[in-house]
Amino acid sequence: MKYNYKDLGLVNTKEMFKKANENGYSVPAFNFNNMEQMQAIIEACAEMGSPVILQCSTGARNYMGKEVVPLLAKAAVEIARAKGSDIPVALNLDHGPDFDTIKDCIEYGFSSVMIDGSHYTFEENIAMSKEVAEYAHQFDVSVEAELGVLAGVEDDVVAEETIYTKPEEVEEFVAKSGVDSLAIAIGTSHGAHKFKPGDDPKLRLDILKEIEKKIPGFPIVLHGSSSVPQEYVEMIKKYGGELKDAIGIPDEQLRLASKSAVAKINVDTDGRLAFTAGIRKTFGDKPAEFDPRKYLGPAKELMKAYYKTKLADVFGSEGAYTKGK
Ligand SMILES: [Zn+2]
Repeated sequence: MKYNYKDLGLVNTKEMFKKANENGYSVPAFNFNNMEQMQAIIEACAEMGSPVILQCSTGARNYMGKEVVPLLAKAAVEIARAKGSDIPVALNLDHGPDFDTIKDCIEYGFSSVMIDGSHYTFEENIAMSKEVAEYAHQFDVSVEAELGVLAGVEDDVVAEETIYTKPEEVEEFVAKSGVDSLAIAIGTSHGAHKFKPGDDPKLRLDILKEIEKKIPGFPIVLHGSSSVPQEYVEMIKKYGGELKDAIGIPDEQLRLASKSAVAKINVDTDGRLAFTAGIRKTFGDKPAEFDPRKYLGPAKELMKAYYKTKLADVFGSEGAYTKGK
């Protein structure tokens, strides 16, 4: 084992999900690709006293380098502690494609992994998820699987349409695979172009309820849950960016889901939009600027400020642990 996650100060997701479900909030899983995004995420969560899952896709891990990721996660824990906050921090692989990738992530300090077998048959998905769960549990690493298919683009995976999770399948899936949490499809989608203006994006909270009845208390995960804040879309456009008109999942619907058995909500796009808006604004206002600290710094601050509002409005996780300064 190159890095045992416990030596990095990280925890798996078991306790944080239990506490979240008992107290009617959900844990944010925010994706990061670089140091500034990591800083924005951990500073926001530490200052709000919210548990946090730092999340990396395979693509993000390749981009940063697998040697970099565990040390950035360790640094995140240190930042929270230096601020005086005791929030638990997990490091999760987002959309693990296969067993070998999972093994490598556990070798390199991940405390949680997702195995995405959602594009395979029900039986194949169970078999893949079970193999991963049996392996990961030897190292006390928690495992997320997915049932149902989300529309949108995630790394290289493109799906045209949502295939809603079938409530009648979840009990068998969870029992046979032995996973610790389950991502479901109830109308969220990946990427920035979720819905067109004029659409009425609705989560199928009725399906969520049915699923909860089948597996009471079991931690549910929602992917693709960005709300695509219009203020950042406008800012990006104002400063020369090109974005198609798009809207995301309304915060109120995500808040409702947070109060249920949904224990983890993934947000990536919103952070990317805030970060990009910050960079574009600096370049627009100060075209002579070429010190990376001067445009990445404000981008980080914007992302951090946005995530703080999101923790209060959507996740409900503010104050679950000691707030840092
Ligand atoms: Zn996803």
